[in-house]
Amino acid sequence: MHIDIVTLFPDMFVGPFQESIIHKAQEIGALSIAVHDLRVFGIGRHRQVDDVPYGGAAGMLLRPEPIVAAVESILDRPVFRGAEEPPVDVDALPPIILLTPQGRPLTQRVVSELADHPRLVLICGRYEGIDERVRQYLATDEISIGDYVLSGGELAAMVVVDAVARTLPGVLGYERGAEEDSFASGLLEGPQYTRPPQFRGRAVPDVLLSGHHARIARWRRKESLRRTLQRRPDLLETVELNDEDRALIEEILREGKHKGTH
Ligand code: SAM
Repeated sequence: MHIDIVTLFPDMFVGPFQESIIHKAQEIGALSIAVHDLRVFGIGRHRQVDDVPYGGAAGMLLRPEPIVAAVESILDRPVFRGAEEPPVDVDALPPIILLTPQGRPLTQRVVSELADHPRLVLICGRYEGIDERVRQYLATDEISIGDYVLSGGELAAMVVVDAVARTLPGVLGYERGAEEDSFASGLLEGPQYTRPPQFRGRAVPDVLLSGHHARIARWRRKESLRRTLQRRPDLLETVELNDEDRALIEEILREGKHKGTH
């Protein structure tokens, strides 16, 4: 997969993209990333990218021309759906994603959907946001990483890249795939333990030390269901449960240990 990122602050990506999973994804050739400096596409001698909003609102907005020029240069073809231009075949384009608090929420399902594309273009906003025509006639998707407002789309783009990278084949290694993580199966992951088996009088549950694979698998599923019931019961409304899951939920409810959250 290849990801292009359009940003006014390319240096912000240097550290995070050189570490850990995103670094590994690039090392093994599962992912390539190109960070494009929006300033290069700025207007005039001062490479202007922003301007005051019409109508007298506060702050500055990113102008449409530099962003459209950047994306058209990256994709090497006209992509802006201007009124007087030949129609653009949006289905033939990679997703052109605007990071915005007004976008559809990023969930694991959205991450899997994005990971199915060979290429993504991410546009990072700044200041008070972006001229509406970018959203309407350039972007093909809009994503929010949560109901709060960041100063720019860069951190949001990093979140998208990280979440997508770890789902790409080979990135997490053979021993463990992303499918065991929270949300992958629609549930939260249950509690996990490592050495030591006893720590200041707090023990690892016996079953995990038993070596009995079927019992361990049952315990893990039950604890995953319990944690989901405790913290995110809304997830259980959409997840597909089998008869064993339903029996485990009844067991949990009988035990009464599904109350109390964090
Ligand atoms: N005035 C805009 C509004 O109220 O919708 C917010 C602009 S915000 C200060 C600047 C930029 O940060 C946005 O254009 C967007 O790219 C990015 N951003 C802020 N919050 C975000 C979020 N929750 N998810 C994704 N991007 C976000």
